[in-house]
Amino acid sequence: MKLSRQFTVFGSAIFCVVVFSLYLMLDHIDHSKNPNGERIQKVSTVLRLSIHCVVSRCVFTVFRLLVRELTAQLPDGFNKMMFFFSGFFQMLDVYDLLSFDNPDGGVWKQGFDISYQDNEWDNEPLQVFVVPHSHNDPGWLKTFDDYYRDQTQHILNNMVVKLHEDSRRKMIWSEISYFSKWWDNIDEQKRDAVRRLIESGQLEVATGGWVMPDEANTHYFALIDQLVEGHQWLERNLGVKPKTGWAVDPFGHTPTQAYLLRQAGLSNMLIQRVHYSVKKHFASQKTLEFFWRQNWDQDSSSDILCHMMPFYSYDVPHTCGPDPKICCQFDFKRLPGGRISCPWRIPPQAITDNNVQERAQTLLDQYRKKSKLFRTNVLLAPLGDDFRYTEAVEWDQQFENYQKLFDYMNSHPELHVQAQFGTISDYFEALRKSTGMDPVGMNVGQLALPVLSGDFFTYADRDDHYWSGYFTSRPFYKRLDRVLESHLRAAEVLYSLTLANIQKYGQPNDYPAVDNYKLLTEARRNLGLFQHHDAITGTGKDWVVVDYGTRLFHSILNVKRVIVSSAHWLVLKDKQTYYHDPSNPVLQMDDVQPAQDALPRKIIFEFFTVPRLLVVYNPTEQARMSMVTVYVTTPKVRVLNAVGHVVRAQVSAVWNDVSHAAADVFQVRSATSVHHITALLWVYYLRKRYMILQDGRQISISELEHFQQFYQQDAAPVHIENPHLKLSISTATGLLEVRSHLIKVEFVWYGTTSNKDKSGAYLFLPDKEATIYSPSQPPVVRVTKGPLFSEVTTTFTHITHTLRLYNIQGVEGQSVEICNTVDIRGETNHEIAMRITSDLNSKDRFFTDLNGYQVQPRKTLAKLPLQANFYPMTSMVYLQDSSARLSLLTAQSLGAASLKSGQLEVIMDRRLNQDDNRGLGQGVLDNKITANSFRLLLEKRSSAEESAPYSYPSILSHMSYMYLNHPLISMAVSQRSESPSLTPYSPLSASFPCDMHLVNLRAIQSKEEGGGPSEQAALILHRKGFDCGFSNRNTALLCTTTRGKVKQITRLPTHRHTSLIYRGSYHCY
Ligand SMILES: [Zn+2]
Repeated sequence: MKLSRQFTVFGSAIFCVVVFSLYLMLDHIDHSKNPNGERIQKVSTVLRLSIHCVVSRCVFTVFRLLVRELTAQLPDGFNKMMFFFSGFFQMLDVYDLLSFDNPDGGVWKQGFDISYQDNEWDNEPLQVFVVPHSHNDPGWLKTFDDYYRDQTQHILNNMVVKLHEDSRRKMIWSEISYFSKWWDNIDEQKRDAVRRLIESGQLEVATGGWVMPDEANTHYFALIDQLVEGHQWLERNLGVKPKTGWAVDPFGHTPTQAYLLRQAGLSNMLIQRVHYSVKKHFASQKTLEFFWRQNWDQDSSSDILCHMMPFYSYDVPHTCGPDPKICCQFDFKRLPGGRISCPWRIPPQAITDNNVQERAQTLLDQYRKKSKLFRTNVLLAPLGDDFRYTEAVEWDQQFENYQKLFDYMNSHPELHVQAQFGTISDYFEALRKSTGMDPVGMNVGQLALPVLSGDFFTYADRDDHYWSGYFTSRPFYKRLDRVLESHLRAAEVLYSLTLANIQKYGQPNDYPAVDNYKLLTEARRNLGLFQHHDAITGTGKDWVVVDYGTRLFHSILNVKRVIVSSAHWLVLKDKQTYYHDPSNPVLQMDDVQPAQDALPRKIIFEFFTVPRLLVVYNPTEQARMSMVTVYVTTPKVRVLNAVGHVVRAQVSAVWNDVSHAAADVFQVRSATSVHHITALLWVYYLRKRYMILQDGRQISISELEHFQQFYQQDAAPVHIENPHLKLSISTATGLLEVRSHLIKVEFVWYGTTSNKDKSGAYLFLPDKEATIYSPSQPPVVRVTKGPLFSEVTTTFTHITHTLRLYNIQGVEGQSVEICNTVDIRGETNHEIAMRITSDLNSKDRFFTDLNGYQVQPRKTLAKLPLQANFYPMTSMVYLQDSSARLSLLTAQSLGAASLKSGQLEVIMDRRLNQDDNRGLGQGVLDNKITANSFRLLLEKRSSAEESAPYSYPSILSHMSYMYLNHPLISMAVSQRSESPSLTPYSPLSASFPCDMHLVNLRAIQSKEEGGGPSEQAALILHRKGFDCGFSNRNTALLCTTTRGKVKQITRLPTHRHTSLIYRGSYHCY
């Protein structure tokens, strides 16, 4: 107990120390530039925030908007005893417990018979809340715009009319992407009507994110961004803050989303797609309602009240009670004569005086049975489905018939029921009241609800139908998502800094502040849209995928425009000379993506008489040593840094195909030390060596006059090495073997089962264990050796596999870079995976991250089918034993498993010829040439692993992931007669600590018309938990951790923290 309280104090305080440090850093740089100004005021010019108070209070002024959006004060009823409450359970333990058999449960097929006594509600009546909802996918079988035109706008238009007809009617809405589009198209009168519906409580916005996001493949950057975008829109236009989360369709659920909702001020949430065996178990234990707590939480501060829907689906047949045949009769859209009917062949009847008694009793029987699965007398009965309530008649059918049923029930006291329409928050409010909980707090109340930690992957809806296919489906776009995320973040940070910098100069100029803000807003929204559970999941129709891809592609181009125009301002020595000419920009990105479905290409630098300048932007908040790669037209180049010193560089060939080097294009990689924003470069010549082999034998190489070739007589393995690592690559297979830990890289194939139900966009239903990929032709192995990096590129029919080692100081040299370019367009029902085998004795345990935010321990279970043991990998997967940890860090979300001790497997692409019967109606046959990037990291343990329900990456692993996810951004300075005078720009005087991440610095929209930026920005920081059991010695980290500083400021107010700081890992102190 004592320990727990102490941690709380630290946890609350951590945010402050970081902000404090940031101030000092910002102040330092500003001070040096403007020695006469007043200290605090200068700080404010950097972030454009009005600060006129002592530092400890300033901290929160800065975050005014952020605090309002993303945090909630700890409630008064905050009860630390909950940690010790006996109803605390871990999902990993639940999995140990369950047998995962699938017996026929009767009318509730995946459950059991439910019975009750007639007098059970005599003392306390059953309170039923029927919650009308319409699930509007922002793209799936139709594009977002087509759904809006054909369905969504009509639903919302009818809503305004039909809710006003009767004040007892209610409705909930969750996707702000649709709501805001509709809002833009309606007149002020209708807007006022909507505001009245919200005020009266007839309409509730649930969750309020831009979309209802996927929870497996999404990164927390994008999850936060789409939530902020939706909440900001709501605050600006309706002045409301959502209280309750609503997620009926994402294919599995993550505690990261629970955490973000809690920190955004929500008190309750609902989830639906959970493994049927888990639902059944929870129903039998009456634990479908629980406080969801983070694995790493030391007390109860991350708790959120969660309702798990018990049955198969969120449609009406599966929400009124256990028997779908009965419940379907209470979906009045299916009345005879309509377009849809009940598959159980008993149609609904319109409610009349004649049948109301029997109908009400039949429905009440279902309500009572459902109620037996919960601990209170308050019952939730959702009433809706996909794109429901499009036509006025459907509103009448549902609302009029249900009102008659309610009127009958409520006017018969002997039934002991109170039934009504409600919003989802009406339900939770009544639930909290009935248990003695306060309206928003997390105290357990009189009727204690259990506490749960863990996640709800991997989802199965029936039989062995595990939804692990979508962890990888359409991997090209899963990668493109991360490219937009890192560029959007880079643009947001530069944009906010530019606005601050411009204000400091205080004169009118050409910088396109409003235009850039519009580009950022559009990019936030396109990225937000792609987080939808049919977008990043790869489960939309082909043309819908193209629509999403085009949006991502355009937004990548647009945020690059924001980056170059902002960087131009910031690095310009004489700001008076700034001009904005989009058709002829001074800076130009050094790579170009030609189309939404094509891989990016490097631009080629031409040299005439003057040196070429390159501006390099380090978007990370730590100083780093990284490689900058440019393509040039001559190998006779050298690289100088901003102060004219020669920088080490390596010139290599650019390969037109496996063994043909380009004669007129060369690649220059230079090891660049970058502070926080800029360096100026220019390039030089070094010799290096090449060898190309096939089946262990040398083959001829064309056009390699500038480089040496080297020869190897025997078929012995090739070695590449740096001071940290030595890799041995078989010249016969081109694959990695590391002797010290017997690490081996291979590729494997999966087919699909011969049963009726086969793998598709959602489902992974393999035929058997994977078979080793053995190409008919031996691969060509190309070895490059040089002073700065060495690499081995192996070309198979379906994969080009590159292993690269950097010989530079710092994080980059510590891991193996793996790039796989995959092309399976010629295949039929095949999935290709990379398998990494090691001698680590990991047994059945491994670890995958959730949303790049936290790590979830996993256990491979023999009682589950192979496909059930795959989990989403958003940023990393690792396994370990007592002496070492092997991590695979990834630049894109993919499905991963550890099917054998010491083994990791990652599915890289899937091509499936058929639909998997989840409504999509097509296979996955639009595969692209896809580039997957990884880092492989082997770390030695310096202290024993703790057995805990949580795990953390090491600091080195966090940093390596940052490098992978946020590469340096290079911009070429255009060649003009007079080049502008440039100077490095660095807003921070020192690196952030290694465990601190600047998630975003997001300019807030002005309240005025026109859509420009306000004076405020939201700064989102993340303090990462890390495992101290790995030595940081010899890792050449250029930053330190926050440890020690935490204690110095525990006297600061602790009740207004932003909890986006990861409060874990205190055992390091
Ligand atoms: Zn959906």
